Amino acid sequence: MTRITGSQILKAPCCGRTMTSPAYASINFSVNESWTDGQAVGTLFNKNGQLRKCLCGQPFFLSDAMTGVVIKYDDPVLSVESIPSAPYIKDDEVEVLLSFEGLTTEIEIALRQRLWRISNDSFRHEYREHMESNPSDLPRYNLSPEQANNLNALKFLLLNCGNENVILMAEIERTLGNFEAALELLNAAPKNDAKLAQMLKSLVKSNYTGPARYRDG
Ligand SMILES: [Zn+2]
Repeated sequence: MTRITGSQILKAPCCGRTMTSPAYASINFSVNESWTDGQAVGTLFNKNGQLRKCLCGQPFFLSDAMTGVVIKYDDPVLSVESIPSAPYIKDDEVEVLLSFEGLTTEIEIALRQRLWRISNDSFRHEYREHMESNPSDLPRYNLSPEQANNLNALKFLLLNCGNENVILMAEIERTLGNFEAALELLNAAPKNDAKLAQMLKSLVKSNYTGPARYRDG
């Protein structure tokens, strides 16, 4: 069960504006579907769920804006009614935000990962339908030039900031069709990710570039 108890008071790192965000007493982390591009359907917190848009237009990480102040719903004195809540970033806003100058590397990485997932959403529908009628093989996947550009830019950013997420890097290489590079990365995957790495290797070995659905844990 996810339960909201009140509002976190945020101070935007970009311009100092005061906003609110729901404060959670308990969070439901259950995931119905996990995908190799990082999409977790059915969970309240997708992996990029912590990015918000400031009222001035700039994207920011929730964790960079926390003040530690929480105002409870039943607080007899304080009320957050007059304070605006920090907007979530909508799918169709991601590309616009990516065109902003002066984004930090971390924010650009988060936005590009989100764009990757959004760009696969229509394929997810095809995949589910295909698997219902024909579970023995995977549906055909075509990477568009725009998707490839986004993945190459994401790869460049990750390499430049010393990212050590081997699985993420391997997924980018596999999706781009760089199967040898993907295999090399997967062979170096940490023990904790052994099961997922094994599954990704089987996708590489069948020269498959599309995202695949899998069971977490
Ligand atoms: Zn701002």
